Amino acid sequence: MNNNLNELLEKLNWNTKESFFEEFEKEKYSHVDLFNFLTKVINNELDFLKKRRMEISFKTSGIPFLKRIEDFDFNFQPGINKNQIIKLAELDFLEKNENLIFIGAPGVGKTHLAISIGIRALEKRKSVYFITYSKLIIKLKEAYEKGVIEEKLKHFSKYKLLIIDEMGYIDLPKGVSDLLFRLVEKFYEKKSLIITTNKDYEEWLELFDNPSTGGAVIDRLLHHSKTIIINGRSYRAFEKSKNEL
Ligand code: ADP
Ligand code: MG
Repeated sequence: MNNNLNELLEKLNWNTKESFFEEFEKEKYSHVDLFNFLTKVINNELDFLKKRRMEISFKTSGIPFLKRIEDFDFNFQPGINKNQIIKLAELDFLEKNENLIFIGAPGVGKTHLAISIGIRALEKRKSVYFITYSKLIIKLKEAYEKGVIEEKLKHFSKYKLLIIDEMGYIDLPKGVSDLLFRLVEKFYEKKSLIITTNKDYEEWLELFDNPSTGGAVIDRLLHHSKTIIINGRSYRAFEKSKNEL
């Protein structure tokens, strides 16, 4: 009987077979409620599948660190509205295809918050991809030069949420403004972008070699967007000074 059951579970690719039989042994002579037994072993399997799915989607998302909202010390950064961040992490903005823009000096927690919202989205089975702005620019330029820009844009825009980290640390090579415009256009009112940057809006236009394309990109990015401006201390500097004490 157990052998048969074992084979059946194998055929089903049941991952938590070991705990299935452990539960089975535990309950075998106790006239246990069969319903409870099945609920337990099926829940074990579902937990396993969820954890594995999360591990795979985290790996393929390109998110460099596992950072959660729970790890963020809101007391350290009183300029941030904690309730606003918690609300954003409920992901209404994704449903509405809105963008989030985090603006602030280095070390204030922009990437941390962007990643932690991305992780919430992964947990809700949304497709998420994280890339730094400089890497994105290089990838777009390379794809254009190789004549595969359409495929590259399609690749990025298959995600429901694209996180572009650290916009503004490099100058755009000539012609790349247009490629960025095409990318932003693919997301506009269909999907969401999260952008982190140390540049205020007034400085954004300077990032583009061509002001009319720059204007068009900014216009689409900001049309349906929420801005989170973080004025405060650098957590990196705080940790460094703590370690040096
Ligand atoms: P930014 O992107 O604004 O430059 P990061 O998000 O990369 O800053 O933050 C720098 C480091 O400090 C990261 O390791 C991040 O997890 C941590 N950090 C920043 N702010 C906080 C905070 N308020 N609470 C806990 N950790 C923080
Ligand atoms: Mg950052």
